[in-house]
Amino acid sequence: MATVEQRRTRSGNGAGPGGTPVENPATGEIITSVPDLKPKDVKEIVARARAAQPAWEALGFEGRARILRRAQKWVLDNTQRICDTIVAETGKTYEDALIAEVSYAANAFGFWAKTAPEYLADERVKSSNMFVKGAKLIVRYKPLGVVGVIGPWNYPLTNSFGDCIPALAAGNAAVLKPAEKTPLTSLLMAEMLDECGMPEGVFGVATGKGSVTGPALIDAVDFVMFTGSTETGKKVMAQAAETLTPVGLELGGKDPMIVLSDADLERAANTAVYYGFQNGGQTCISIERVYVEEPVYDEFVAKVQDKARALRQGVPSGPGSVDVGAVTFEPQMKTIQEHVDDALAKGARVVAGGHAKTDRGRYFEPTVLVDVDHTMKCMTEETFGPTLPIMRVRDAEEAVRLANDSPFGLAGSVFTRDVEKGERIARQVESGAVCVNDAMTNYAALEIPMGGWKTSGMGSRHGAYGIRKYCAQQTLLVKRFALKKDVHMFPYRARNTKVIGGLLKLLYGRGKRD
Ligand code: NDP
Repeated sequence: MATVEQRRTRSGNGAGPGGTPVENPATGEIITSVPDLKPKDVKEIVARARAAQPAWEALGFEGRARILRRAQKWVLDNTQRICDTIVAETGKTYEDALIAEVSYAANAFGFWAKTAPEYLADERVKSSNMFVKGAKLIVRYKPLGVVGVIGPWNYPLTNSFGDCIPALAAGNAAVLKPAEKTPLTSLLMAEMLDECGMPEGVFGVATGKGSVTGPALIDAVDFVMFTGSTETGKKVMAQAAETLTPVGLELGGKDPMIVLSDADLERAANTAVYYGFQNGGQTCISIERVYVEEPVYDEFVAKVQDKARALRQGVPSGPGSVDVGAVTFEPQMKTIQEHVDDALAKGARVVAGGHAKTDRGRYFEPTVLVDVDHTMKCMTEETFGPTLPIMRVRDAEEAVRLANDSPFGLAGSVFTRDVEKGERIARQVESGAVCVNDAMTNYAALEIPMGGWKTSGMGSRHGAYGIRKYCAQQTLLVKRFALKKDVHMFPYRARNTKVIGGLLKLLYGRGKRD
């Protein structure tokens, strides 16, 4: 059997001692280092992918699904190893790795293997236009070639590798550029696909610095699937515009939670604490701010405060060891501290947590802020850390107005026992996804689209569009029975023109009108 280095070399992922150290944020230890690729290396990986793609496409849905299903089994057989890798490079808890990452991949391989042939099947279309009567109209989907996926550090499996799965299922080759800080899960996935029989070169990983490997990848591929901050997303789109390369952008968020006075407060508080602090608050669709109707504000805050204070934080050492892990990305500590300090300076109070802990590893305590308002950064800018600011509002109308007072529009949630009202309010929230009496779990349903409004993104992942975006659409118009000359062809004659005018009236002139 090939060694790890041999496998990495074969999949174009570099081998031997590397340039970029990978740190465990929970302990501060350096785990290993990975190759610091240069633009020419990225070009080579993409060239290999391009050469391997036609044979992969030619395998057909069933041939590709066989490998994807093997990968699904591998993920289930190697859960511990994957979790250990994710935990080591992100500092998140074992449960955050298992529930939000491994379970995603375990489902996604089977989902795309099964649905790719349905979503990408030829579509027969009927047209009402008289000029195409009698012709067969087909829309078909052809893989674009090489898809470049650029991922963030917060979910190295779900949000980085996860987007490669539908790209591969569609028949593309994929080259993944993981975040510089968290490349190990992507390299493990390359090994995994190799073991599962993925033809050489179809999947590649380009490690190294974002500002070097990212632009090199964008220039070389046929589609860029980017997940990361809004700021970098704009750069990605601007660069892709130079070659008119299509992009999918999944960007930052500031997800609001609205708690109405008739809500089940215990459920609402548990959800706020879980989806505010799960993954250390480092999830694009974390609950980032809460609006609570006046009559239940104090009771809700008391519950959240107690639950937040009870959370255990520290070095993850296996299942059940801690609830909240480390801050993965060092610069994030500054942002979190800045948002807390800014809120306190403007009159907010901390009722749980509030401090950084850096004696061993890098942590910020699960922090609950009250007496907050929209003059504060914690309510208007993405914090991306374990903070939960809770604001008192007069009524649902004010809550919706404030929820929408944001450049972001990724997701949101509404809590009420009146689900009709909840749904009505959800429809008023300007976000790509809104849950009623829940949060975040919509992401797990791969059948429905997930994408941001406003500066939270462009396009979406999951559902039919989540795989069709990786394909070129081609329309076929096929005429089996064709006249020597159609009535509208040259030379123009008054008689024919009159016939066409009459047909237009006949076809389109009879509908009901006010
Ligand atoms: P960044 O935007 O900093 O980085 C994202 C990726 O882009 C990294 O791989 C990075 O590489 C790379 N990159 C950096 N510069 C360039 C460039 N010039 N061209 C191309 N690629 C480049 O985001 P973070 O990694 O900090 O991730 C956190 C952000 O991601 C948050 O805003 C979060 O909300 C968002 N996110 C959105 C999700 C969604 O589904 N909407 C899901 C998950 C996160 P390197 O790391 O090497 O610098």
